[in-house]
Amino acid sequence: MEVPETLAHLITINVDFGVLLCLSPSCKRAVSSIGIDGHMRNIHHYKPAIRKQINGFVQDLISQDTRFQCNYTTVQLPADGSIPQLVVPVVGGFSCQECRFLTTNRDNIRKHVNREHLKKRKKDGDIFNCVQLQTWFGNKRERYWVVDESKELELGQQLEQEDQEQEQDRQLEPEPELGQLGRLYNTTAISH
Ligand SMILES: [Zn+2]
Ligand SMILES: [Zn+2]
Repeated sequence: MEVPETLAHLITINVDFGVLLCLSPSCKRAVSSIGIDGHMRNIHHYKPAIRKQINGFVQDLISQDTRFQCNYTTVQLPADGSIPQLVVPVVGGFSCQECRFLTTNRDNIRKHVNREHLKKRKKDGDIFNCVQLQTWFGNKRERYWVVDESKELELGQQLEQEDQEQEQDRQLEPEPELGQLGRLYNTTAISH
């Protein structure tokens, strides 16, 4: 399933997680299949003709893969520490050292730790870590996971290295040259 070319600048899909994404520079977030028409009308004021195309595509999509019916409560989250997903921004945040509480707000992490883990006078570094986060949905429907941007860098370097190795392989492949063939022929001829 691919986004039709006429819509490819407006929406995209993440096939691994069954997520529909709005590509508008002001969004770059997931949109639920139920909410997408209202989103495109009320937030982006797209014309009915383009919305009709989007709705047609979304209906096809969810009939083929029901994961795309997810909303912010049911959407599948990537594993903590995984490579960042495309489209959605990476933001700085805080992770609790004692549970999976994640937030972008320093006051929230302190409140969480005070309330849940009863650690009032500890230093910041003893109660939470600074991390990079992503969330599919925004606007108070955030559910964060931790991303590792260094993996993105590593993957990029790996791909680059593979490219170089392939390039070297191509260069190392023996290419028969006329001169060599000629010599081979001559040797054989002499031994007879
Ligand atoms: Zn949008
Ligand atoms: Zn905690």
